[in-house]
Amino acid sequence: MRAYERFLKYISYDTQSEAESKTVPSTEKQLKLAEELKRELTELGAEDVILADTGIVYGVIPASSGAEDRPALCLNAHMDTAPASSGSNIKPRIINNYDGSDIVLNEELGIVTRVSEYPVMNSYIGEDLIVTDGTTLLGADDKAGVAEIMTLCERLLSDKSLPHPKLKIMFTPDEEIGRGADNVDYKRLGAAYGYTVDGEAIDEFSYENFNAASAVISISGISAHTGAAKGVMKNALLMGMEFNSMLPEFDRPEYTEGYEGFYHLDNMSGTVESAKLEYIIRDHSKEKFEKRKEYIASVVEFLNKKYGYDAFKAEIKDTYYNMLEKVSDYRELIDNAFEALRESGIDAKAVATRGGTDGARMSWEGLPCPNLGTGGANCHGRHECISVQKMDKMTEVLERLVAKFA
Ligand SMILES: [Zn+2]
Repeated sequence: MRAYERFLKYISYDTQSEAESKTVPSTEKQLKLAEELKRELTELGAEDVILADTGIVYGVIPASSGAEDRPALCLNAHMDTAPASSGSNIKPRIINNYDGSDIVLNEELGIVTRVSEYPVMNSYIGEDLIVTDGTTLLGADDKAGVAEIMTLCERLLSDKSLPHPKLKIMFTPDEEIGRGADNVDYKRLGAAYGYTVDGEAIDEFSYENFNAASAVISISGISAHTGAAKGVMKNALLMGMEFNSMLPEFDRPEYTEGYEGFYHLDNMSGTVESAKLEYIIRDHSKEKFEKRKEYIASVVEFLNKKYGYDAFKAEIKDTYYNMLEKVSDYRELIDNAFEALRESGIDAKAVATRGGTDGARMSWEGLPCPNLGTGGANCHGRHECISVQKMDKMTEVLERLVAKFA
């Protein structure tokens, strides 16, 4: 079976996750696809296939002959789709031999994917493109990853001559709400390292992400009747604005790209008496990341001195770290990926993720896990798409990749 055929089956399952939910997994409907994946893995001949009560599907592809002593390699993709856009009743359409023109997704609703707005569409010219009907997302993020890994499993299990180490397959729920790595049972998994197949373009490979922290600035002001406030009032709202004005103006998400870090004011609230400013801090460089946190602390210290009392308090907490620090000890994870991509005719480049990934969390839990693309584009919305050929290509890349670990 080709990867896109599986993909079309998987996207018929609504697996939207839900941030407000307290259950594990966050939505019960994800378990329906999990059951199906468990069934399929078992039927293909994978070993030790289980669906854990956390909603994670685990399975093992035994090593090819001669590679039994090689460390086990994990391949991971997530089953859920983003809460940002509906994932129910997806009606995919295949445009054969896409010619590069604007795509009318839905004539009635006037929904059009314009190439001028989505130049990535040019990378699909001549391919068989799978699009939505404009009312839902497509689910390539990350059911394409699931389908590509599953198709690889089928190949390896039906052709014993293909070299590979023991593969630990893992399909996770709730990635889109940041909980995909919460319940991974690393002992059960028993892999030395791995890859997530959860990116977009197949020529982008990522083994770096942000270091991340949150900073909550609490400000205590002094309230007074406005008619008698002279020399008495300390307006916490204005003090908050003063604090913000001391952060470097261009170190903001809207002015930065590539390896540039930032402070981002995410929320503010308050009265004259008290105010709160909530920031997130991001930087790929560990050194600059630490400096940013120190800078926040120094502004607090400076303003407290200026006001003569402990008016400002900063609560700074690390959220996640750059996987590079962990991955760089396993150079073969990076080199093998680039080689497999090159041998498959793809001129790939390293892209530093401007966010966090489940792979980053897993890397810091002891499972170094860079991220490969799936071939999809415009994720999390109605313009999401992928092509039949890119999914075939990525499956081929995975086949070459696992051979390098044998
Ligand atoms: Zn994803």
